Amino acid sequence: MTSLRFKAIDNLRKNGKEELKPSPRITEIFNENVFTLKKARRYLSDDAYKSLVASIHAGKKIERQMGNYIASGLRTWAEERGVTHFTHWFQPLTGLSAEKHDSFFTLKSDGTPIEEFDGGALIQQEPDASSFPSGGLRATFEARGYTAWDPSSPPFIMEIGTGKTLCIPTIFVSYTGESLDAKTPLLKAVVALDKAAVDVCQYFDKNISKVNATLGWEQEYFLVDAGLANARPDLLLTGRTVFGHAPAKGQQLEDHYFGAIPERVYAFMRDFEQESYRLGIPLRTRHNEVAPAQFECAPIFEEINLAVDHNTLLMDIMNRVAKRHNLMVLLHEKPFAGINGSGKHNNWSMATDTGVNLLAPGKTPKTNLMFLTFFVNTIKAVHDYSELIRASIASAGNDHRLGANEAPPAIISIFIGKYLTDVLEEVEKRVGGNFDEQDEAILKLDIHKSIPELMLDNTDRNRTSPFAFTGNKFEFRAVGSSANCAGPMTVLNTIMAETLKSFKHEVDGLIEKGEKKEVAIMQVIQRYIVESKKVLFEGDGYSDDWEKEAAKRKLPNVKTTPLALDAYESDKAKKLFSDNKIYNHLELEARHEIMLEDYIKKVQIEARVMGDLASTLILPAAIRYQNILLENIRGLKDAGLPETAYAHQKAILTQLSDHINTISANVEAMIEARKKANDLTDTRKKAIAYCDEVKGKYFDLIRYHADKLELMVDDSLWLLPKYREILFLR
Ligand code: ADP
Ligand code: MG
Repeated sequence: MTSLRFKAIDNLRKNGKEELKPSPRITEIFNENVFTLKKARRYLSDDAYKSLVASIHAGKKIERQMGNYIASGLRTWAEERGVTHFTHWFQPLTGLSAEKHDSFFTLKSDGTPIEEFDGGALIQQEPDASSFPSGGLRATFEARGYTAWDPSSPPFIMEIGTGKTLCIPTIFVSYTGESLDAKTPLLKAVVALDKAAVDVCQYFDKNISKVNATLGWEQEYFLVDAGLANARPDLLLTGRTVFGHAPAKGQQLEDHYFGAIPERVYAFMRDFEQESYRLGIPLRTRHNEVAPAQFECAPIFEEINLAVDHNTLLMDIMNRVAKRHNLMVLLHEKPFAGINGSGKHNNWSMATDTGVNLLAPGKTPKTNLMFLTFFVNTIKAVHDYSELIRASIASAGNDHRLGANEAPPAIISIFIGKYLTDVLEEVEKRVGGNFDEQDEAILKLDIHKSIPELMLDNTDRNRTSPFAFTGNKFEFRAVGSSANCAGPMTVLNTIMAETLKSFKHEVDGLIEKGEKKEVAIMQVIQRYIVESKKVLFEGDGYSDDWEKEAAKRKLPNVKTTPLALDAYESDKAKKLFSDNKIYNHLELEARHEIMLEDYIKKVQIEARVMGDLASTLILPAAIRYQNILLENIRGLKDAGLPETAYAHQKAILTQLSDHINTISANVEAMIEARKKANDLTDTRKKAIAYCDEVKGKYFDLIRYHADKLELMVDDSLWLLPKYREILFLR
């Protein structure tokens, strides 16, 4: 029987060239499957439309009757497009999106079949939620959970084959109101930031009445042949390869980055992009990434809640469309050892309802000071809560990437570029905060003239920083490629809200004491710079020197998820989240528990897959090869040849035996370590045991010997597709 590996390699030849159909103009298909306000205007009565708009812009509650009208207009629009079912679409803490479809079809009391969709069905549903992660929340209170419509993200039609479903973006909460999803806390953090930022904006412009956080994510991913991936149980079950020797050619030639996109990949990209445009995801960029078979796409930034929904939706679309092309998308942070991992840069800023980007250097002294205020407050927030920022990106997958010499380290630092470093130093130098006679000079710093040129071209960028200012936004680069952006963005918006509140409190205090407003602002900014400058770092974040330097500066450097997550349990975090009404203590404990559980399960599955593959695919191949060698030696002996004739074979035999025995003994020991870990009842201790005792002690060790075998065993006996095949065959 030919192995799956060789069948897949054989099939590659049959995949042939994709036929590229001409693409429609993007503007013609953009938002085609979205119930935008423009469509709402057409399908809703005046009152219903106004009620919807008030809900979107001012968070006003939609009355029951209005809900019915909106639902009815929505159904008409959907049915005209062939939709038969609807679903509440939500983002539980599984990292994926969830949906439960119901048809519009129902029976009247006399048995007449009708199609119906009322306000109740639009606004609230009770999915059977008992099997979503809840960190014990629902068990403690009430088994039920419900989904509730989030009007700020528009309904859309998901097309799968010829089936069409109306999807209504919702939040997911327990019956007693605790959040059970990624979005609820994000929406709360957005509200907190809005309030705190608007308050601070009043110093500069009384016309500002709303501040929206904005997000533009950059999604990295690997794309591989599905046939080959299907012959790798580790890829299928864990999203990464737990074995595999580095290929002779990796990424050392750096010939992939921005190189020509292979045709098969190009066909896939065009296909998923078109689906994305129909769903209103404003994709703009596509290119090859550094590693072979690695790519990236990025949209135009949007209001943060919508951007998060769009990223979740995109990951789903990519997975689905890839299947049509017999490809597989790998969103894991580190699918291949020794080759770059994938991240999801989160470009973040804040925009006012007057059209100002608060992190864009201004054109006048007044707006310059506003920029400096928000800029320095962000630095202070990240400095004060760097443990939480670190915790927000912690996951089993990201542990392989952070600090692995190609990704930002687990040390949170901020890069701001030379010019702004000079500006902050300038401000800091004014000892005693005496800006009185010099404030004109400060305000006239030519920030606006110099930054755009310096920052917006790529020359003054640092790609090794986990958190970098890039001219008019901060780019949080340490986020994992498979993560839901909502987690890190909830933390970032919350710490920013908290910092801005303190800032305002302190400035107001100085003004009350009779200080001039601008001077008071500059004094607090100056103190914030002094207090948080140790988080600023302009050098190479991947270097060993930085680790040493960071240790000197006492910056936290937590390398593993179970320990990084402790930050969610600190008194500081509890106070932060409850003061800003994001999580109460119970919700926070539940999140912590869920994240630990997720970590445990992922490492547990990897350990099992490792054991299985070693015992059933790797060792048997090695043993078969041993037999061939043995037969060969016996034959040579029988033919009367001297021992020197088979010395090489004997040497290989010995090495094979060594590797086989080491693997086998360590797989056994790993199983024992797992059993021990499983006996622990404390989730945190269990996660640490999985991290240190299972993964830490055995993963690399077993892999090292298995990968050695891969280099020795007859290629035709080896069952797992090799890196060179997965990464280079198209
Ligand atoms: P790169 O960082 O790769 O050079 P860009 O600077 O063009 O690329 O932008 C990367 C991402 O940042 C894009 O998604 C873009 O829309 C987003 N972005 C740009 N400005 C903002 C902003 N004010 N707020 C949030 N995201 C932004
Ligand atoms: Mg970028």
